[in-house]
Amino acid sequence: MDLATLWYLTTGTALIAAVMTLWERKAHAQRARELGLWATAYAVFAIGCVLAMNRNTLPGITGFAVTNVVMMLGYLVMLQGALALDGRRLHPLLIAGLLTAIGIAWFSAGVDAAGLLWNHVSAFPIAVVSGLTALALLRSRTVRALRSRPIAVAVFAGHGLFYAARTFVVPVITAIHGEDVLALVAEITMYEAVLVTVAMPMSLLALVREEDRASLLATARTDFLTTLNNRQGFFELGPRHLSGASRDAAHSLLAFDLDHFKTINDRYGHDVGDRVLKLFADIAREVAGQRAMSARLGGEEFAILLPQTRGADAHAIGQSIARSFTETAARSDGLGIPATVSIGLAETSGSEPDLATLLAAADRALYQAKTLGRNRIEIAKPERVARAA
Ligand code: GH3
Ligand code: MG
Ligand code: MG
Repeated sequence: MDLATLWYLTTGTALIAAVMTLWERKAHAQRARELGLWATAYAVFAIGCVLAMNRNTLPGITGFAVTNVVMMLGYLVMLQGALALDGRRLHPLLIAGLLTAIGIAWFSAGVDAAGLLWNHVSAFPIAVVSGLTALALLRSRTVRALRSRPIAVAVFAGHGLFYAARTFVVPVITAIHGEDVLALVAEITMYEAVLVTVAMPMSLLALVREEDRASLLATARTDFLTTLNNRQGFFELGPRHLSGASRDAAHSLLAFDLDHFKTINDRYGHDVGDRVLKLFADIAREVAGQRAMSARLGGEEFAILLPQTRGADAHAIGQSIARSFTETAARSDGLGIPATVSIGLAETSGSEPDLATLLAAADRALYQAKTLGRNRIEIAKPERVARAA
């Protein structure tokens, strides 16, 4: 392999990475800072490559020192981007201090040590900063659930390990086999550089795109007014809540329909109606707790799935929500209006609990509650659940 060709290639891929990342940045306003930092890092790497190719044209150790400081700047900006994912950052003064220290180290080591520094020592800070970048991605809370995160972690960890090997393993090999090994190491280093300037932007762009997609998906599953799950969210996420439980666990479902809601709208206005819906959603979410899955199925109809909860407990939760809703809506310092809710409760146990069947049973009980005068909770008859299943 021709070393110069590999340097040219790395310069090109780093420049393309910078341009592509800047382009992608327009489409991801929520990650503009991270993408901007990463694009800057690639551009700095490209400048570093050009400097490296011409390092011998500068007097003494200057070319080596400047190249190394510029490359380190690129790695630190890269790390800064990874930290920004969670709103963290290195203080700019710390970055400036580190780069100054590296520059001073070069000039105080002098020309005689240039080879040693270039081949082995300068790889160590790169190993550390790449390792820290991998760690930042690994520990990031915001990208935790994303499929592309392990890939991005692996790219930076692998790069860090490669540079750690240049610091600690290559000197040993050189001591055994002689200086000739260094030419091969330089080729491998540049080959790895080509791969890494492709792998870094690919994995980081995948991360940002996947995060964007996940947030769109979450929006599609969320009711805009109440921020509860909507009907789609309920039917997509509900089965997961059920499938995690043991086969013979009991699950309960509460179906709610606000009473005479059309009258509330007509009498107090649509805005007050919206506030009533939000009030109900907040109370339902709070009373039902973490393990429950609450949803606004449409209009003034809500459902709460209570995994691994017996009917008696679900009954108490339903009553508590209804009481709190009516009391809070009536408070003179709040909405100050009379509002009640009717509830249907269904419980299932045994194999293969089916959400649609459970909801149909709860809906029938809800219909009962309406016909029996509203503002009450009715329980679906067990045999009707069984027959429907
Ligand atoms: P019932 O006690 O039998 O349930 O009577 P109801 O008036 O609650 O039932 P109905 O289904 O006739 O009316 C539901 C009303 O809910 C009609 C609709 O205008 C209102 N509604 C649906 N979505 C919204 C919303 O997002 N905001 C507001 N303010 N009202 C809504
Ligand atoms: Mg209704
Ligand atoms: Mg209603």
